[in-house]
Amino acid sequence: MSLADHIADLSLVDHHVHGAFKGRLDRTAFEQLITESDRPVPPWLSTFDSQLGLAIRRYCAPLLGLQPHASPDDYLAARAQQDPNTLLLNAAGVSDYLVDTGYQADAVTGVDELAALSGSRAHEVVRLESELEYVAAHESTVAAVPHALLQRLEERTAGAVGLKSIVAYRHGFDFDPAEPSTREVLAALDRWYSAGADRVTDPVLLRWLLWIGARRGLPLQLHVGFGDTDLNLRTADPLLLTEWLRQVEPLGTQVALLHCYPFHREVGYLAHVFPHVYFDLGLTTMYVGARAAAVIAEGLELAPFGKLLYSSDAFGPAELHYLGAVLWRRAVTSVLGGFVEQDDWSAEDAVRVATLWGRDNARRLYRLPS
Ligand SMILES: [Zn+2]
Repeated sequence: MSLADHIADLSLVDHHVHGAFKGRLDRTAFEQLITESDRPVPPWLSTFDSQLGLAIRRYCAPLLGLQPHASPDDYLAARAQQDPNTLLLNAAGVSDYLVDTGYQADAVTGVDELAALSGSRAHEVVRLESELEYVAAHESTVAAVPHALLQRLEERTAGAVGLKSIVAYRHGFDFDPAEPSTREVLAALDRWYSAGADRVTDPVLLRWLLWIGARRGLPLQLHVGFGDTDLNLRTADPLLLTEWLRQVEPLGTQVALLHCYPFHREVGYLAHVFPHVYFDLGLTTMYVGARAAAVIAEGLELAPFGKLLYSSDAFGPAELHYLGAVLWRRAVTSVLGGFVEQDDWSAEDAVRVATLWGRDNARRLYRLPS
């Protein structure tokens, strides 16, 4: 079997993904879901005019019975006539979805619905910040929160495969890496409760959550780098996490850094030197479209190949669940194929590394059934 055939047939583990959007999408709604900007798209601009937009027209149009590169209007008209979720999810070739249920969960399919639509297994990843916010909404006294949070996490992680933190969004990585004392936590909870205890942004509480997460033993995912308007990209630089990574290393918890662009080379270094650091180029691969091979090649520079994970980070249109997989397969085939052609790698090694990246590393890390 050729390298291209092997990668085309490889069942992927999508280790960071969200649900698919339920219901119809008009052009305005669809365009708003294929950008990371939450600002209204100006009338003179189309988000189809982007690497992601052109990739949708190229790779998703044939699944809807259209020619590659169909116009956005033709594409959306064909989409409205069919069941795009079933078509696109089934074509992605993903055996397992690890679903982050902490972002706009009501707007998209839940874990079981995604499994039913795709015919794949789906597993939950629990967001730490959402769980603290849930506890705060149900506990009237600050003193009860630490115990209630641990109990809540015990229940929520009983069937989950991992935990996730969005500290990059809520504060950035420029926080004190040390585990906060009980006194510091209670003081921070007091401040937060006095302010209404809605969205948790206090750096003491966020790093308390990170330490609680690291102490639970499940793999801990952290958003890194590129994301939506809520983010300050400067403080989403993973090098700012170095000291925290050093401090949690003795706990033995494995840390998966998500997305990472444009800091994927920095993350490659962290994965190189720290045994507990993994990473993916999800979200990035689909947003850079025809440039995916360049980014994938950079991801293969310093990181040990046992540290690479595949994800789409799709949220909303099932085009994103499908494209994450298609563009990853194309880029990995092209880059690894190039190494083989140059006689730097054997074909067997290329197949083996592609399999580690697309499937086996995630199966081992999250203890998934094979
Ligand atoms: Zn995500």
